[in-house]
Amino acid sequence: MSDLPFARRHIGPDPDGIQRMLGAVGYSSVEELMDAAIPESIRWHGTLDLPPAATEAEAITELKSLASRNQVLTSMIGLGYYGTHTPAVIRRNVLEDPAWYTAYTPYQPEISQGRLEALLNFQTMVSDLTGLDSANASMLDEGTAAAEAMTLTRRSSKARSQVYVVDADTLPQTVAVIQTRAWPLGIEVRVLDLETEALPEEFFGLHLQYPGAGGAIRDHAALIEAAHARGALATVAADLLALTLLRSPGAAGADVAVGTTQRFGVPMGFGGPHAGYLAVRAGLERTLPGRLVGVSRDADGAPAYRLALQTREQHIRREKATSNICTAQVLLAVIAGMYAVYHGPEGLRAIAGRVAGRAATLADGLRAGGVRLAHDAFFDTVTAVVPGEAERVVAAAEAAGVNLRLVDADRVGIACDETTTIGHLRTVWAAFGVDAPAVEEAEPGEGLPGSLPEPLRRTGPLLGYEVFASHRNETAMLRYLRRLADKDYALDRGMIPLGSCTMKLNATTEMEPITWPEFADIHPFAPAHQVAGYRELIDELKRWLAEVTGYDAVSLAPNAGSQGELAGLLAIRGYHQAQGDHDRDVCLIPSSAHGTNAASAVMAGMRVVVVACDADGNVDLTDLDRKITANAERLAAIMVTYPSTHGVYETGIAELCAKVHDAGGQVYVDGANLNALLGYARPGRFGADVSHLNLHKTFCIPHGGGGPGVGPVAVRAHLAGHLPEAIASAPHGSAGILPIPWAYLRMMGPEGLVAATGTAVLAANYVAARLADHYPVLYTGNKGLVAHECILDLRPITKATGVSVDDVAKRLIDYGFHAPTMSFPVAGTLMVEPTESEDVTELDRFVDAMIAIRAEIDKVGRGEWPAGDNPLAGAPHTAASVSADEWAHPYPRSVAAYPTGTAEGKYWAPVRRIDGAYGDRNLVCSCPPPEAFAE
Ligand SMILES: *Cc1c(COP(=O)(O)O)cnc(C)c1O
Repeated sequence: MSDLPFARRHIGPDPDGIQRMLGAVGYSSVEELMDAAIPESIRWHGTLDLPPAATEAEAITELKSLASRNQVLTSMIGLGYYGTHTPAVIRRNVLEDPAWYTAYTPYQPEISQGRLEALLNFQTMVSDLTGLDSANASMLDEGTAAAEAMTLTRRSSKARSQVYVVDADTLPQTVAVIQTRAWPLGIEVRVLDLETEALPEEFFGLHLQYPGAGGAIRDHAALIEAAHARGALATVAADLLALTLLRSPGAAGADVAVGTTQRFGVPMGFGGPHAGYLAVRAGLERTLPGRLVGVSRDADGAPAYRLALQTREQHIRREKATSNICTAQVLLAVIAGMYAVYHGPEGLRAIAGRVAGRAATLADGLRAGGVRLAHDAFFDTVTAVVPGEAERVVAAAEAAGVNLRLVDADRVGIACDETTTIGHLRTVWAAFGVDAPAVEEAEPGEGLPGSLPEPLRRTGPLLGYEVFASHRNETAMLRYLRRLADKDYALDRGMIPLGSCTMKLNATTEMEPITWPEFADIHPFAPAHQVAGYRELIDELKRWLAEVTGYDAVSLAPNAGSQGELAGLLAIRGYHQAQGDHDRDVCLIPSSAHGTNAASAVMAGMRVVVVACDADGNVDLTDLDRKITANAERLAAIMVTYPSTHGVYETGIAELCAKVHDAGGQVYVDGANLNALLGYARPGRFGADVSHLNLHKTFCIPHGGGGPGVGPVAVRAHLAGHLPEAIASAPHGSAGILPIPWAYLRMMGPEGLVAATGTAVLAANYVAARLADHYPVLYTGNKGLVAHECILDLRPITKATGVSVDDVAKRLIDYGFHAPTMSFPVAGTLMVEPTESEDVTELDRFVDAMIAIRAEIDKVGRGEWPAGDNPLAGAPHTAASVSADEWAHPYPRSVAAYPTGTAEGKYWAPVRRIDGAYGDRNLVCSCPPPEAFAE
């Protein structure tokens, strides 16, 4: 057994299990099943040109070799990425703990109380530090958060102007992302040096950086006031560590604050993933993009957390979308929030004070050596002015093991962080050729350096909430992390059959490399010759992804599927414009599409035209013809998901592509469902021009409770030159987690990948076949088969019995399951995607639970249990509710608590069903004061 190939570890069912499933579905082999399921018009019969499968040990050896080709220098580059010490208790018990990293987005709040509490801590931390009332959880990075702030301020501003002013001392990568996102929306970005240049007469928003990219701390209050006087809103991109010592953006009058939380314990990872943040003043909270955790109450009136203001994502309202963000950065937000819990306000202040002290010491030494500094007020970063010498200084520091920032030929930027030592300062002084001053190796003394301007220091309390005061010893911290993790249901407990989300195995071997320092501790702007290992890994991964999709070029920059969509659509727009087709701006989107599709089209400045689906769930080709004709001159693209979000292989896909191409449009195939195609069909060869993939679905990056993700965009050659240059802050997006898909592809090999696809499709058909007599399967394609997921139609059952899709989802918790995807893409249904990783025992456990629930529904239907008081309506049942001295329900406690008849491995939801509407009416989005939890 010990030398089973990795594919046999990744794929749940063994050969006997596969035979059993085939028997139930009525096919003699997986090949025969796939031949029947996948339309021949798109079928690919080639063999994937990928290296043969490596064992787990071989893959780790190869990854070690790649890692060894990255040089881990001390980074003093700054620009939003800093060295940080991930507290070991957090690294091991969050970042490396499957209870945290294999959880799903907390749409089912009853089984997500742990991560929701952790996210509320994050929101509270951000809102307290920024001095603003509400913060979301979370954004993808600082650049995209700044772009979201731009559109948020445009929606909320009274100014009629289309001008957005960005201060020149903003991180260059942020300016670039803002520009990428501005042009399709017709926003004019004006980058001005506001120290010397005046604000224009009219503009809708202003973006400032605090401290500036070059390190300077400026008082922004007057600029913000001037912006307000013109009806504009002001956004401040602020460094959270600096804010422990400095006056907050809110106190300076800012409407919005954005930034990254990377330096709160999250490794640089060659650019990501890290949690970006976005906070707003009171009055703007209902305009926040992304996810917002709020406090509500459960069926017993107990306080409980859940995502506020949205059943799914309130900002993704199709053609009225205000943002396309979906997958965010939950795992990293949890880490950053826990960093603050672990250090507490005094700890954070002490770290920030030490960093500021180092920078002041560095500056003193440089000045004493005759080096001129560009500014005297700074937190952690100084800019040295050395005419004509900058390259020499940077090279000398590099030779001694420290990377500095080459600003231009005359200026060098030097950033201190939590990890900076006096030894590092000595290296820097030597690189400048100045004598090291006599400094103590000891910590800088009490008191803050004069480089932090007195009038701009923070006054008043910091993080005065219980949670930031009570977990300061490691035992308490360890138990807090365990307590929260225990409240949640993740893949380490059982199956998460979420349609469209592909909750498959995240293998330990895939995860291991991401915390190696050679991958984790690399700055995204480290010189290329220091990152040969990363470059090779990235190039190989791009090549492999191009091979499996049939496209010509792949970019790994987008840090979520939504961002890949936007990048792909911008490439389409750019292509049309280059052809002189300036009017092609209509994007056709089937009614069944994922919400991000339409939202991305809106972000790309396109007009969404919805195409109907027919009774079988397929794109209605007659309606497509009609919509093409009606928009003949303006057709830019169609965006379709394949296999469709209805979980079927539509036979009309090749014809659909041809029709759109004939009309001059481009075809975008949403690749989120690639798990049903890999090795069997290649979108880049069956008619599509561009796709995004979700590496956090098909390619095993864990969902992390709602992120991180990676959403590469893959294009045919004609679009390659039109991909936007800056879609995320870092050049390779969330590079730090790319070893995961690399390892998956390397260890599965061509045969393993094909077997995974076949098994995933077989498993979905097995579930559909076993459940067909109990729940109608809504859509099937060729020969009554589904693809990799199936939709169970509860609407007739609800109509007959009053039992809702919600009741079934919550009752599944009592049975020990995470619910399938609810009411997407069709309201009143459940979409089940078992993936290839669940073995037949687990599939049967799920099917048996669903069948048992059907019997319970029938009892309600027959009137044996009243409609309002039955195990479904009462679900989920907590330990407290079933052990209460009072039990007034018409069903026994044992049915409530142990519906399968066994207590073995019982998962107890920590709260009863949560009242979402109550929480939306009484919006509380930061840690409530302790009184709120009292009676
Ligand atoms: C998950 C998904 C997306 C969005 O991907 P994110 O990574 O969450 O941004 C888009 N389309 C479909 C069909 C999906 O399932």
